[in-house]
Amino acid sequence: MKSGPILVATTNAHKAAEIAAILAPTGLEVRPAPFMPHVVEDGDTFRANAILKACAAAAAHGLPALADDSGLAVDILGGEPGIHSARYAGERASDADNNALLIERLEALGAREPSAAFVCHLVIALPDGSLVAEAEGRVEGLIRWPARGAGGFGYDPLFFHPPSGCSLAELDPAAKNAISHRGRALRALTARLS
Ligand code: IMP
Repeated sequence: MKSGPILVATTNAHKAAEIAAILAPTGLEVRPAPFMPHVVEDGDTFRANAILKACAAAAAHGLPALADDSGLAVDILGGEPGIHSARYAGERASDADNNALLIERLEALGAREPSAAFVCHLVIALPDGSLVAEAEGRVEGLIRWPARGAGGFGYDPLFFHPPSGCSLAELDPAAKNAISHRGRALRALTARLS
């Protein structure tokens, strides 16, 4: 792909900050998309929704766009909340609402430290809708409550990462990016681009 700016297609400020930090050493010129067109995320996979977001942003701005679709998959819940992670407890749900519902569902099942994974699918699309590159990253862990840590976002305070010995919300940003689904996906993607 010829070099030039790549727009980061997200309205999630936490994701945008993580993506910018992880890509900083690569020399890629990444910029936040000036705005995100409204996208109905009606795909039934992380990949399908990442393609919808990347293509919409690339078409709206006439530049290549990078989009991430990501979420938490809990094995005992059949992979839920999955693609519904952002809106698990409803359309306007906060992270606290989503975390509370997750704990409620796990307690109802009598689950103790169930296994889970964060998954991130990344896509770079061009304005004509063609895909330049894509990659997926995962990090495995356990859901452990009560919540711990004040870093990160989303389900991080409930996601215990055994190799780190703490929740993702207890890691500093660089340590989270080194092991996270998003960090892994972004490093795989940039390796493919170069
Ligand atoms: P998306 O914006 O539709 O991709 O939804 C992503 C949702 O998945 C977020 O709102 C969080 O609930 C969850 N999620 C994705 N990545 C992370 C992460 O790194 N930490 C915690 N929660 C995450």
